Amino acid sequence: MQVVCLDLEGVLVPEIWIAFAQRTGIEAFRRTTRDEPDYDRLMRWRLELLREHGLKLADIQQVIAGMAPLEGAREFLDELRTRYQVVILSDTFYEFADPLMRQLGRPTLFCHRLVVDADGFVADYKLRQPDQKRHAVNALKSLNFQVIAAGDSYNDTGMLGAADAGFFIHPPESIVAQFPQFPVNRNYAELKASIDGAATLLRG
Ligand SMILES: [Mg+2]
Repeated sequence: MQVVCLDLEGVLVPEIWIAFAQRTGIEAFRRTTRDEPDYDRLMRWRLELLREHGLKLADIQQVIAGMAPLEGAREFLDELRTRYQVVILSDTFYEFADPLMRQLGRPTLFCHRLVVDADGFVADYKLRQPDQKRHAVNALKSLNFQVIAAGDSYNDTGMLGAADAGFFIHPPESIVAQFPQFPVNRNYAELKASIDGAATLLRG
């Protein structure tokens, strides 16, 4: 049996914080792990910023509800799910992803959770498990699934390396050079062909 694991942001939907910055006009939300490599510091800073601007979870969800999946993502995913079991492995939060997952037909999603206080502000966040993408792939393999994975960024490389076959889809050039072992796909048609090719090889 084969399972396909896909990253969410940058693969099926836009980068949520970047889109959030665009839609709110608050440019500071563009800051990413490239600017602040310490993820915990970055998240604490984001939560502070949300509070400063009086943005509660409901406001954030309303903004995110105005976003749409990347062009062709729903069709790609729907077609893939007719032939494979698909799990989305993401470092986002269930509470943020929900409006976008609805538009994607609610595929299985493993990600993290937010802690919301009595006033509706995001008070904290809880990682389900550090390095959860890689752990999830290894767990699936321990259940005797063959795993084919695709992602677009640094936080996917653990998952791609652990999988039986790992692919990039439209990654930044800087990452391509650093991880030449993962074949690059430029669009959904290419990725679909790569997944099918790997699935055939793995079936043996
Ligand atoms: Mg991504």
